[in-house]
Amino acid sequence: MDKYQVLKETFGYTTFRQGQERLVDSTLSGRDVLGIMPTGAGKSICFQVPALLFPGITIVVSPLISLMKDQVSALNAAGIHAAYINSSLTEGQFRKAMEFARQGRYKIIYAAPERLMTESFLALAQEVPISMVAVDEAHCISQWGQDFRPSYLKIVDFIQQLPMRPVLAAYTATATKAVKEDILCILGLKNPDVLVTGYDRKNLYFAVEKPKNKTEALLEYLRRNSEKSGIIYCNTRKTVEEVHQELVQAGYPVVRYHAGLSEEEKKQNQEDFIYDAAPIMVATNAFGMGIDKSNVRFVIHYNMPKDIESYYQEAGRAGRDGEPGECILYYGGQDVKMNEFLIEQQVSNEELGREEQEVIRERNYERLRKMTFYCFTNECLRDYILRYFGEYGGNYCGNCRNCLTEFQDVDVTEEAAGILNMTLSSGQRYGIQAVIDAVHGSDSAKVRQFRLQENPYYGVLKDRTIVRLRQILNDLLVKEYLWLTPGDYPVLKLGEKGREFLQEKDSAQVFLKLPKEQEKAETKQKAQKKRSVEDVKYPELFEILRQYRYQMAQKAHIPPYIIFSDKTLREMSTYLPVNREEMLAINGVGNSKYEKYGKAFENLIQEFIRDKNIEK
Ligand code: ADP
Ligand code: ZN
Repeated sequence: MDKYQVLKETFGYTTFRQGQERLVDSTLSGRDVLGIMPTGAGKSICFQVPALLFPGITIVVSPLISLMKDQVSALNAAGIHAAYINSSLTEGQFRKAMEFARQGRYKIIYAAPERLMTESFLALAQEVPISMVAVDEAHCISQWGQDFRPSYLKIVDFIQQLPMRPVLAAYTATATKAVKEDILCILGLKNPDVLVTGYDRKNLYFAVEKPKNKTEALLEYLRRNSEKSGIIYCNTRKTVEEVHQELVQAGYPVVRYHAGLSEEEKKQNQEDFIYDAAPIMVATNAFGMGIDKSNVRFVIHYNMPKDIESYYQEAGRAGRDGEPGECILYYGGQDVKMNEFLIEQQVSNEELGREEQEVIRERNYERLRKMTFYCFTNECLRDYILRYFGEYGGNYCGNCRNCLTEFQDVDVTEEAAGILNMTLSSGQRYGIQAVIDAVHGSDSAKVRQFRLQENPYYGVLKDRTIVRLRQILNDLLVKEYLWLTPGDYPVLKLGEKGREFLQEKDSAQVFLKLPKEQEKAETKQKAQKKRSVEDVKYPELFEILRQYRYQMAQKAHIPPYIIFSDKTLREMSTYLPVNREEMLAINGVGNSKYEKYGKAFENLIQEFIRDKNIEK
């Protein structure tokens, strides 16, 4: 068997995707690898293909139980012997799994990091040959990351205990420069092949909205997008409950998920969502890790998440099948406060010292700041995200709200001067509201309390609206003319650019991009038309196959996409394969899947051809 055979026969794919082949080759040649690839890029294939070709066992370290379970079921469905070892196993199941592992029955074993250094696991690792250790979600090893897990440090100890050093392969979807360096350094990767494939997910559309009434905006969106599957993320359990209730009342097939529900209900709801019995999920961020539901068409953030890492990961659950997906964030003023509250509340990690915790807290604030800027930038949203991860895209993607909105540059030099001068002359001691009230000449409690009426810049912008001033101030923050101190009472300070601006006096100018309202609606419509073109030749057949897949999935108690993805069904509904050879030419149909499901689908297609008198 070679790598192409494994790819085709086991996984049913005809070609490797961008980056996959290089990492597979490096791994097979015995070289360590680090793959930084966006969610949905296909990281698993990069280590699963070599795992099947290596003589020994591959240990995959993964942080989440649900993630392991899903991956192992997918492997089992593809005819590969794999198992997982984590705290969800009963004592008996655990013993059996270890026994089978010792007999060499598994090619791939998924293990939770805290399991690695247990006596029994170490004993196993001494007995069986281990060819590779693959570290999934490798960013968890870094304190710079959004999800530091001290147990990940055990991986290093574990590898040192092994009689022979295996190949190390580390994978993550989100790594800023600092996180990347931590992974390389802490895991001790030797001369690794580091591949950063584009973070870009071209099929995803991005937008930020600031609806006055989020519930109404959501209901309106669902009306326009009925029948589609999607996730609505909320910041708190309470909001999940409220939004869920609204949607139930509006008659949508919706389920909910948060940490306050019983295990049983969580499991049931998750399954209903995955099996498309209830295609809409309202959830906190507790939901989704490792859920590879490929036909999620939209991810709406009802609240702004805490950082870009979380946002991109959650939004990235849309469109995993490569078909168009929409990622929309509803921003509200309360979202920042709520996130600050959550940062303060964060359960302190007992394994960390006070100083470390303080550092982590500051970094959390910094990340929140960057997230907030995302909601206010008028530049390309995709570009903003890519730059955050250290990638440089073009300034225009043509598939985000900002790129599809026409903006005009408005000269706001005078307003900028007023705001910056007020900030500086009042001693850089006050927050946004006080500064805006002051330049606007309001007689508010804050103005009186801080005696800002006496400031020479009081009321210099009294003919501008408060909304407009806020917009301009936000833009000054995004462009780093100003910055806000972290903490409960954020205070405005002048940034480098702000200081330069004031020094240059007359020559400096500031422009703000503001949307041209009338043209917006039209461009959006055009864009939506473009995105909704579907290239299935026989949509009726697609519906038939989808229905059938659903029934099969229910019977077998597996998610439908484990049988075939939407993309595979689309191809079938276009090319009408009716024999083994034609079936195997379809993306997503491998030998093992063909044996299990191929014939049944062939028959349905035959029938359809006969019914409709189609000439092939
Ligand atoms: P990641 O772990 O990077 O988020 P996965 O490994 O879960 O992504 O893969 C995402 C999706 O892409 C899965 O549905 C997978 O079956 C599919 N996929 C991966 N590699 C290929 C390939 N070479 N050709 C077609 N589909 C692929
Ligand atoms: Zn764009």
